[in-house]
Amino acid sequence: MIHATSPAQRAAWEAGRAAEPEWVADDVVAVAVPMDSPGMPSSFAYLLLDGDAVDVVDPGLPGEAARRALDAALTLAGRAVHDVRSIVATHLHPDHLGGAADLRERSGAPIVLHAADAAAAAAPLDRAPTRELLADWGVPESQRAELLAGPRRPPTVTVADRTLAEGDRVGRWRVLATPGHTAGSICLLDEERGLLLTGDELLPTIVAGLALGGPHAGSPVEEHLASLDRLAGLGDLEVLPGHGFRFRGLAERAAETAAHHQRRSDEVAAVLAGDPEATIWEIASRLTWTQGFAALAGFYLGSALRQTAFHAERVRSEEPGPRR
Ligand SMILES: [Zn+2]
Repeated sequence: MIHATSPAQRAAWEAGRAAEPEWVADDVVAVAVPMDSPGMPSSFAYLLLDGDAVDVVDPGLPGEAARRALDAALTLAGRAVHDVRSIVATHLHPDHLGGAADLRERSGAPIVLHAADAAAAAAPLDRAPTRELLADWGVPESQRAELLAGPRRPPTVTVADRTLAEGDRVGRWRVLATPGHTAGSICLLDEERGLLLTGDELLPTIVAGLALGGPHAGSPVEEHLASLDRLAGLGDLEVLPGHGFRFRGLAERAAETAAHHQRRSDEVAAVLAGDPEATIWEIASRLTWTQGFAALAGFYLGSALRQTAFHAERVRSEEPGPRR
């Protein structure tokens, strides 16, 4: 069982509002940035203090609400916007990186991302599937138009000023490259104080989707499971996630999250065992979806098919033998 190490954050999350900023350690402040979206009331920014300097991790969505939350937290920390030394994002998603450009403009600090997400953020791919891919997935003609339409808003371009790689430092914190949620997702580890910032790679109550960024080197499912294994092996750390509340029970939550993805692969494997030639559409239509497959539409349908395809690729490439 995981347990919340901040009852205030947990209560706010469960009530659907953003928590007050709070000290996590004598040089770390957690800042809940409002998101105002159902089931997702906030994202967390973190202020990492290093002498007078502040490294801001995941400034959150663009806009006035995020700006106010960050400024209030800087005041709580006894710092001001000109003390910001760097703006680090755990990955490229707008609820983490979106406000970075505004903060860069106000502070003059550089935006720092893992190289894989820096590349994807600077030249966002058109995420809409192609006609060929939809045919390949066996999507019925009647459903293709809505999938080809793609997202309603074009993705925002953010150009990073510096890139990060495995083993780099952000002040005292060490960068762990943990691909899965995106190819360039990172965690930040403070071994001395036993703290781990996980972005969306590991969350207390949600299992995030896979490969929601640029291209991956290998199977996003395998990469994510390897990242979770690695995090689980770090010991009993306090986890500071991108959404939810801070908690202990790192190994348990990593195992639960891995089991969720494994169940998905197992479901896909069971469909393929009975029907080895099943298309991605046929497989997806036989999996369990929270609201039912028929209710999925537009972006969510495209995303469901993409996640199904990752699992199908993994299952089809697996050597016969013991499963993990
Ligand atoms: Zn994300």
